[in-house]
Amino acid sequence: MKLALEKLIPTAFLLAIGLLVILGFFSYQSVKATNNAIEWEMRTQQVLQALNDSLINLVDAETGVRGFVITSNETFLEPYLKAEQDSSQNINRLRELLKDNPEQLQRLNNLENLFNEKLRISKQHINTRRNEGEKAAIETVSAGEGKAAMDKVRAVVSEMKSVETSILREREKELKDNFSRASIFLIIGGIGGIFLLTLGNVLIYRENNKRTLAETELKNVNRDLEKRVAERTKEIVEANEALRHSEEFNRSIFESSPDCVKILDLDGNLISMNKNGMCVMEIDDFAPFIGKDWKEFWQDKEKQLVYETIASARKGTAGNFVAICDTAKGTSKWWEVTVAPVYNGEGDVVRLISVSRDISERRAAEAEREKLLVSEKDARRDAETANRMRDEFLATVSHELRNPLNAMLGWARLLQKNQLDGDASRKAVETIVRNAESQNRLIEDLLDVSRIIAGKLRLDIATIQPNDFVQAAIDAVKPAAEAKNIRIETSIDEDLNNISGDANRLQQVIWNLLSNAIKFTPKNGEVKISVEALNSMIEINIKDDGLGISPDFLPHVFDRFRQADASTIKKFGGLGLGLAIVRHITEMHGGTVEAFSEGEGKGSTFTLKLPILAIALEAEQVSSSKEIEASSFVGKTGIDLNGLYILTVDDEPDTCQLLEQVLTHYGANVKTVMSASEALSEFVQKQPDILISDIGMPEEDGYSLIQKIRAIPDNKTKKMPAIALTAFARPQDRMKALAAGFQTHVSKPVEPDELATVIASLTGRL
Ligand code: ADP
Repeated sequence: MKLALEKLIPTAFLLAIGLLVILGFFSYQSVKATNNAIEWEMRTQQVLQALNDSLINLVDAETGVRGFVITSNETFLEPYLKAEQDSSQNINRLRELLKDNPEQLQRLNNLENLFNEKLRISKQHINTRRNEGEKAAIETVSAGEGKAAMDKVRAVVSEMKSVETSILREREKELKDNFSRASIFLIIGGIGGIFLLTLGNVLIYRENNKRTLAETELKNVNRDLEKRVAERTKEIVEANEALRHSEEFNRSIFESSPDCVKILDLDGNLISMNKNGMCVMEIDDFAPFIGKDWKEFWQDKEKQLVYETIASARKGTAGNFVAICDTAKGTSKWWEVTVAPVYNGEGDVVRLISVSRDISERRAAEAEREKLLVSEKDARRDAETANRMRDEFLATVSHELRNPLNAMLGWARLLQKNQLDGDASRKAVETIVRNAESQNRLIEDLLDVSRIIAGKLRLDIATIQPNDFVQAAIDAVKPAAEAKNIRIETSIDEDLNNISGDANRLQQVIWNLLSNAIKFTPKNGEVKISVEALNSMIEINIKDDGLGISPDFLPHVFDRFRQADASTIKKFGGLGLGLAIVRHITEMHGGTVEAFSEGEGKGSTFTLKLPILAIALEAEQVSSSKEIEASSFVGKTGIDLNGLYILTVDDEPDTCQLLEQVLTHYGANVKTVMSASEALSEFVQKQPDILISDIGMPEEDGYSLIQKIRAIPDNKTKKMPAIALTAFARPQDRMKALAAGFQTHVSKPVEPDELATVIASLTGRL
């Protein structure tokens, strides 16, 4: 029903508009018809007026003419003249008014003719009066022609007037009809309009009512809704408050943990980390880490473990592992990690929490304990080994001492009993002496080792020729070699530089190596010894084709009290001390000793390298050449190299240091470089007053260096003094050095004063 009324509003308006359009149309038609009728009426009135006027004019003219005829007074002719003048004008006016009515126009033409006829007759009367006098004129008038014409005019005018009057009546009736029709339409239209407007108003009123009702209802609903929203908001605020409290609680737990606590999403991507965590992980800004896959921070081998722990936490089972991981700043740390699920209110796993504890210190302590345990075990084993070795050593020493003692005692007793003849007595004495010497050597070795252990072994340093102590050692072992028919082949460079060293100790070293070679080589074998200079070293090789050394024992061959096996002792004798002493003495000379063997039965080679020092040192300086006191080079010559700029080139760092210290002591300003190329670039920067160069250098030798320097097109450079300080001491080496461009050749080792003198002489300071 409501709907039907609502729908009526537009219909009512449409109807009202339709009605108004129809009313308007008919009103317009009525008004138009009324206008027409009024126009017609006015025109008819004008026609009647014009007809009257024409008739009156004509009557006035007739009257005037009669007056003239009687009086001959011209003023009576004025109406006639006026009628004559106005006649055509009136006819034309009537013609205009009657143009739509042909019948009346016909009558008008007739009327016009009658008018003209009447005026012509009147004219005739006037002329007759003027020309023929009053009597003639009265007779003419009395003839009645004028009257007849006048009657005709009246008849036509009357007819026309009656036609016009009847038309006027019709128009009036039409006008009335139009009025009454228009009134009816207006009344009906008015009533209809009022009805429709009322209906519309009623409907609008009702609609308004309904809208007001709806609005009230809406307001109520809104109020209700707002109330509910307010209640809900309050609930939410309360809930949020509670949540915030619990979050703050969680966060305070999160932040107060000393461990690295991280929140991860279900795929293991980082969401957040507590401050302490950032501290232990050495992270300054966590922002770049957000959304990063946590797994990727672990080493490749740990990734699977991390992945599995995340997967199990996602399914609701917390897991843990221990692994190593770098911090943001690259510090490697051990972590004990737990990954656990975080649930929402519905019991679903929504996040993961990972707690990593830095256990690096604990691990380090464990490792330290482990190491201590191992070292304690090692120490115990070493102690046991030492004990065993001491026992073995005592057994060996007893055995080694008793062997010659037994021989000596046996032969001594026989001598005591005088049971021997002359030859036998001599042999007994020789045997006793030989065994006593052997025993003496054993005791010497023991004493040497105890001196070495106590740090009391002293060298008696002098400038010596290597060939001298090598030859002395060969001579000493010759009887033993001959006894086993072992050939000793020697290859010795005769032009070797002197070295600084203790001739007796170095002879002991060579003797030891040769003795071993002979001892461990079968009868009729061969032992080779070679001595040569290699750059700043003297290299001595002692090679035998005897027993050889197993790869297992080779690394221990220079250890004290070490022998290949017990059977060796029984078979070859010895205390296992010789090589330990060899190594110690060699190292005291700044040299090295190495053993090579391809294995048992394949012979052995021992290589000894002794340095050819650039400067001849005093006894105590040799073993500690790197820390020599400059003051120990107090010159005896009083040479002063003050202000001299010296450039020295040598590939041996020790030699460089030594030269610098010695020459600085004489007052020189020394620059040391370690290669020819460095020397050249130093040269370009600042030309020295004198150059001291080694000859044998790895990349480019001293000959090449001096040739390049001499090739520089500069007189000063060409004349610059240069000394070749080298281990190549043969005459041909000296000649080659001078030919290359050096002023002089000085062999290593040189006495400090000698070097200073050579420098002073070359620079004109002597
Ligand atoms: P010793 O000879 O008194 O036993 P060393 O210290 O001189 O003591 O030698 C230690 C060990 O090294 C020897 O017992 C031997 O086993 C081994 N050795 C040394 N020189 C040689 C060599 N030329 N050939 C084979 N083995 C050797």
